[in-house]
Amino acid sequence: MTNKPTNPKDSIGIRKAPMSTVSAAVMAEIGVAMLEGAAKYGRHNYRAVGVRASVYYDATLRHLFSWWEGEDVDPDSGMSHITKAITSLVVLRDAMIQSKVEDDRAPSSKAFYPALNSAAGSILDRHADKSPKHYTIEDECRSSYCECEPGKCSSGRIDKRADHVAAMTEHAAREEDARLIAESNREAA
Ligand SMILES: [Zn+2]
Repeated sequence: MTNKPTNPKDSIGIRKAPMSTVSAAVMAEIGVAMLEGAAKYGRHNYRAVGVRASVYYDATLRHLFSWWEGEDVDPDSGMSHITKAITSLVVLRDAMIQSKVEDDRAPSSKAFYPALNSAAGSILDRHADKSPKHYTIEDECRSSYCECEPGKCSSGRIDKRADHVAAMTEHAAREEDARLIAESNREAA
């Protein structure tokens, strides 16, 4: 075998759809998320029977809203809500490519962002002299960065740990399920 001198530009210069630009870590998570659907309904069932757009739109937004509202892990699957949202869109997009979507979107709307964007801009202009504190999840007492007793945050953070205890116990059980699924998948491979 001869060694061809390689052009460093080759890696981004090949004019074909690349896979090397994709995150293998995220793809592997999607693989596990889709294993759940495969185990329940049969692999690639969405390609055979098709999908209704609203189902995947709703699922995607439910996962995004849950994540945005502070739930890291989907209790049903033990996976990140972000992974679940991406996976819903992967199925929807595949169905679009295969012409297997029942497109039940609403009749299209008049453009609404231009007016809303200028309204948002006006609000910011009106309050340009103020600089209030913007609260984030880091203002909350969470085990990832706070080691406090529930109800006694020593850093003065918003404390919802008591509310979260039951949910986190559930999450831990689901995570263990996901780990076992991943393990048996590895053994089967
Ligand atoms: Zn704390």
